[in-house]
Amino acid sequence: MTVRIPLALPYFDASEQEAIAGVITSGWVTQGRVVADFEGGVASYVGAASAVATSSCTTAIHLALVLSGIGEGDEVIVPSLTYIATANPIVYQKAVPVFADIDLLTYNLDAVKVEEKITTRTKAIIVVHQFGLSADLDALFALADQYHLVVIQDGACALGAEYKGRKIGSMGDLVCLSFHPRKIITTGEGGMILTNNPVLADKARVLRSHGASISDLERHTAGCVLFEKYEELGYNYRLTDVQAAMGLMQLRKIDDILCKRRTLARRYNELLRDIPGITPPYEPTYATHNYQSYCERLSEDCPVSRTTVMEKMLEFGIATRPGCMAIHQEPFYRRLAGRIHLPLTEKAADSTILLPLFPSMTSEMQDEVVERLRHIVRGG
Ligand SMILES: *Cc1c(COP(=O)(O)O)cnc(C)c1O
Repeated sequence: MTVRIPLALPYFDASEQEAIAGVITSGWVTQGRVVADFEGGVASYVGAASAVATSSCTTAIHLALVLSGIGEGDEVIVPSLTYIATANPIVYQKAVPVFADIDLLTYNLDAVKVEEKITTRTKAIIVVHQFGLSADLDALFALADQYHLVVIQDGACALGAEYKGRKIGSMGDLVCLSFHPRKIITTGEGGMILTNNPVLADKARVLRSHGASISDLERHTAGCVLFEKYEELGYNYRLTDVQAAMGLMQLRKIDDILCKRRTLARRYNELLRDIPGITPPYEPTYATHNYQSYCERLSEDCPVSRTTVMEKMLEFGIATRPGCMAIHQEPFYRRLAGRIHLPLTEKAADSTILLPLFPSMTSEMQDEVVERLRHIVRGG
């Protein structure tokens, strides 16, 4: 079956190609000058003091854990209803992921459930802004203050999303972004740490580049001979200038991208409202969704299973995806953490569907998605 309406599609024009060609022909492929421009652009867009680009959000989260001193035996509370990349870096550090349940309305961590999981070994919470909807940060920051925990935000999906009128990335000290093609803007692969702490930013820059005390950019712009030192174990988690050139052009379009996504999502909300058995996404008053994903849920009384809905949609050439995985049910984490039960996470993992949503989607495509869905969930 050929897919006529994909789930997601990056929003490119000729500018990305021109910018990449410009980097290549200038000979500045690895020195980090364009990376620094891209970092400055994202930091000023969200209102963060500093930004450090990385090769992915996964590597950004890993660095955030290293920067927070998380190591062997430390417990890190994390949602299970998220992409597996939120939890894997905890295991890289030989620390222990402790899964907490979510709020079924927002699909984000529930502060009450998080508090139940805090022990004397708890060092950090990784807060995910799932599908581009901000978690209730005030409640989670208050809890972290009370128990002296580090808060790392996985904002992979949350560029442009807001909490109480402020953009994600402007609040807190370690916010990680992704520029994978499925996210709001893309560099192919890529990530970033946003921070308001200049010491953390400097340390992150050193750690992402093998632990070298002097970066390539500093050496190339110094005008004198510099010798670097390696004080700590570092990584090669750099973004390249070629990727950053693409990111800068994507960043120019971000307001247009967000406006198109929000317009389409609100239209879905209207169109889906009268289909019984379907719960559209929820937007609490404290948050402005960016609709990185449009996630709807099938209710228990829906006469057809989620698998049937997805298969029948695909027969009509419409791509869908399960809303989100539950990490604790994957074999690797079952072996690591044993069998645990998170009722709301499991319910969300089993009953949510992502519908196609991308900036160049037309209202005709959207009408077709909704009409097919209406027909299928009626049992047709
Ligand atoms: C996409 C995603 C990641 C991983 O991002 P990469 O840049 O691919 O490493 C992590 N967490 C969440 C919530 C994501 O959606």
